[in-house]
Amino acid sequence: MKKKLIIANWKLNGNKVSILNFLNLLNKHDIEEKCKIIMSFPVIYLYLAKTIIYKKNIFLGAQNIDVNLSGPFTGEISVNMLKDIGIDYVILGHSERRKYHKESDTLIAKKFELVKKANLIPILCVGENKEEKKLGQTQEVCARQLNSVISICGPQIFNDTIIAYEPIWAIGSGETATPSSVQKIHRFIKEYIKKYGFVNSDKISVQYGGSVDENNVAQLLYEADIDGVLVGGASLNYNKFKKIIDIVNAF
Ligand code: PEP
Repeated sequence: MKKKLIIANWKLNGNKVSILNFLNLLNKHDIEEKCKIIMSFPVIYLYLAKTIIYKKNIFLGAQNIDVNLSGPFTGEISVNMLKDIGIDYVILGHSERRKYHKESDTLIAKKFELVKKANLIPILCVGENKEEKKLGQTQEVCARQLNSVISICGPQIFNDTIIAYEPIWAIGSGETATPSSVQKIHRFIKEYIKKYGFVNSDKISVQYGGSVDENNVAQLLYEADIDGVLVGGASLNYNKFKKIIDIVNAF
């Protein structure tokens, strides 16, 4: 059975004390073998977090990397630096990075390749905005975002990777996509990758992200192709996050 993932994206939030408190509680919480948690704190706290975590199913992820490995790129962090401190996952192409940092599909695909080459696991965010949803372009948008990775990195690249389907209109809005619509697009993503990428769909995990909380997570996980969730806002509150873990534990 594929592990159910819970990815927590703290974005630009948290400090030393809040992260230590959160991890001390999380370390003590029962997390079933079939469940895996990836905490994505701001990069400056990842090393500290690494020294605190002792549970074997809690992992750490970064929220971005630079497209270069070293050199005169002031302010950037490379994938090798993350590897150096024992980080396993990297979120790429989050809609906030696409929007505020003007990251293109091509740039994201290059970063995806770097993460794979470093033997870390990329978490590629894809998804449509409100206008594209209204126009019925969800599949087309996701296919375009996947295609750029396939065309730059080659067909096998999606083996052992994570895709997070995150409709932009659902992120931080309190409006969640219906489980059946998420199921449909997750199926589409898996079939698409299988068709163009020659990948066994058991080797990719497709997460849903967009206003997931303790009240809607169960309905989402009943769907066959929702392999886990990416949680933003609700992951900042330990009690809410713990309830999400308990629900996932029960599946
Ligand atoms: C996100 O950060 O990708 C996200 C899904 O946020 P939220 O859960 O707050 O919508």
